[in-house]
Formats: sequence, C-alpha cells, structure tokens
Amino acid sequence: RKNETEKKEVFYKMNTEAARYFFRNLTLNKNVREYLYRRGISEKTIRHFGLGYSENSWDSLLKYLKAMNFKQDHIIENGLALKSKEGRVYDRFRNRLMFPVFDARGRVIGFGGRVLDDSKPKYLNSPETPIFHKGTNLYGLNFALKAGKERQYIIVEGYMDLISLHQAGITNVVASLGTALTKVQARLLRRYCEEILISYDADTAGQAATLRGLEILREEGFDVKVIKVPDGKDPDDYVRKHGEEGFRNIASSALPLIDYRLENAKGNLSMSQEEDRIAYARRATEILKELDPIEKDVYIRKVSEDSGISENALMDMLKGGKGREQQEPE
Ligand code: ATP
Ligand code: MN
Ligand code: MN
Ligand code: MN
Repeated sequence: RKNETEKKEVFYKMNTEAARYFFRNLTLNKNVREYLYRRGISEKTIRHFGLGYSENSWDSLLKYLKAMNFKQDHIIENGLALKSKEGRVYDRFRNRLMFPVFDARGRVIGFGGRVLDDSKPKYLNSPETPIFHKGTNLYGLNFALKAGKERQYIIVEGYMDLISLHQAGITNVVASLGTALTKVQARLLRRYCEEILISYDADTAGQAATLRGLEILREEGFDVKVIKVPDGKDPDDYVRKHGEEGFRNIASSALPLIDYRLENAKGNLSMSQEEDRIAYARRATEILKELDPIEKDVYIRKVSEDSGISENALMDMLKGGKGREQQEPE
C-alpha cells in the first residue's frame, strides 16, 4: 500500500519533469511554435496549458529522466517509454506536439501527443498507468475550476477545442478526449454543476458520441442541451473564425435534449414526402413515449406541426395503437 502511494508520487514528479522538458523543447523549436501560431494559439496560451514538443529522437526523454534518477522500469510503467520485443527501450512520444493532461487538482497524470502533419495516428495518448485512467478524468477541469465557479459547463471532444475556447474567454469547458463520455466522468462533473452543454464535432462520430453522452448525462440528473456547430466544424474551428461572440451565439441557441433527439430522428427525411412523414412520426412517438405528460403535451404539438400528422393520431400511437409493435428503423 505504502509502496503504491510512494510510487504514484514518483510518477507525478516524473510527469512534471517530462512536461517541463517538453515545454523547453517547444521554446527552442521555431517550427512547432509556428505550427501553433498558425492555429491561432498565443504564447500566453502555450504557457497556460503547458504545451510542449517531444523531439524527433528515440531516447532523448528516456536519457533525460534516467539522468534525473528515475528508474527505467518506472519510466516504462508510467507510459513515457516502451520496450520492444528485442528489449530495446525507447520514447513513446516522438516528434509530437505535447499536451500534459492534468487531474482536477492540477497534477500531471499523463500526456496526449499530436502529429505535426497528416500522419497517423493523429493523437497518441498515455496508456493506462497507476495514475492515468482515461475514463475517469476530464481534460481541462482544473483550468475550468481555477477560472471560477460556473452554473453550467460545456463538454467538447478535443484538446484544441478546449484550448481555443479558453483563449477566446470561454473557460467553463471540459474535454472528454474523443472517447465516449463515461458515467464516472459525468459523476465527476455533477459535483460542480447541474447544467451541461454538449458541443461535439459535427461529424458522424461526434453525433453518435453526442447521443450516447446525452443519455449518460441525463441518467446522472443533468439538465442537458446540445450546441450544434454549423458547417461540419468543431468548436476550435468555429471559435477561431467567429470569435467569442459567435460561439456564445450558437451556445445560446443550444437545443434541449428532446428537440435534439427529434431532430436526429428526422435525419434526412423530407417532410414533403408522405412516407418520410410517416416514418418520422413513428420514430418521434418512440421518443415521446418516455416523456412526462406536460412534456408530451408540448412535443406532440411540435411533432404534429412538423410532420403534418394530427395530434390525435400521434396521441393514439402513444396510447398503444397499432404502431406500438413497430420497430424503430435504425
Ligand atoms: P485537431 O484540431 O488538432 O485536428 P481534434 O481535437 O479536432 O484535433 P479529432 O479528430 O476531432 O481531433 O478528435 C477529437 C479528440 O479525440 C482529440 O483531441 C483526441 O483527444 C482524441 N483522438 C482523436 N484521434 C485519436 C487517436 N487516434 N487516438 C486517441 N485519441 C484520439
Ligand atoms: Mn472529429
Ligand atoms: Mn475535432
Ligand atoms: Mn479540431
């Protein structure tokens, strides 16, 4: 037990040293700094988030950490180095833009690294280690908490989304880092607020993650809305182009959970096509079924106006008319 705790302390220290090392590399590397400037990231922001650069070398960090008396086995277990089948030990992160990942208390628990070109994988993250557990942490929570108490938080997917929003002055943001939001992450957030705006990417992956995230957040008792970022963009692209005011605008017209589900059920169906209207009404009743009577009243009217199907017919469906056994088409 005691050994475990001591080891974790060593790992936090090692990560802090690695973050400093990456940060210094970035200071010395004009190309990588220019990559960030091109993406609109300022010097101040680089400092605030402790961004860095892992050199294009097999063992520069390894050597550095060993010289600081960290044990090779610890460096491997902490995810900063890997051992090949032949027993060769080498740096995990090479030639990448580095994002230290902090926990809510501000300790460095791991790293994300982005390539500087179009090679794959675009991002590489620390593996699970004694101090890094992906599904239980939210990137940026420490920065959001430091910026002040908020009634409402915005969840985004990526490092750059969060960093750009911060730089634009929107600081009540956390990032789930690509993976679908977990129950543990939702509970973590529940300590700090009751209202969430989901602002995931406008691509298919982002939309699927939004639906799953909505479900989890609702189960944890959040009041949830969805910010739809126009033009297939992500929050980083959008705020860079339209500024704080532009993003606050789309945030203020975020869709309530039910509206988002209905809109999603509508998909590409055309309300001027009979078959599509019927299909939409069927899918919509599946969603309406779960609502309380007051919500039902409001949304039956909405779906009726939208689909041109009478409120009576929708009501009948809900009461268990013929359509009840209908499977919702996927
Ligand atoms: P950028 O703007 O730098 O291209 P992004 O954040 O918009 O990056 P996305 O492809 O939208 O990149 O991915 C969202 C998030 O998902 C990333 O920030 C990263 O945390 C995570 N992610 C993406 N690709 C991978 C990957 N190959 N492995 C692990 N995590 C990934
Ligand atoms: Mn994406
Ligand atoms: Mn993205
Ligand atoms: Mn992006």
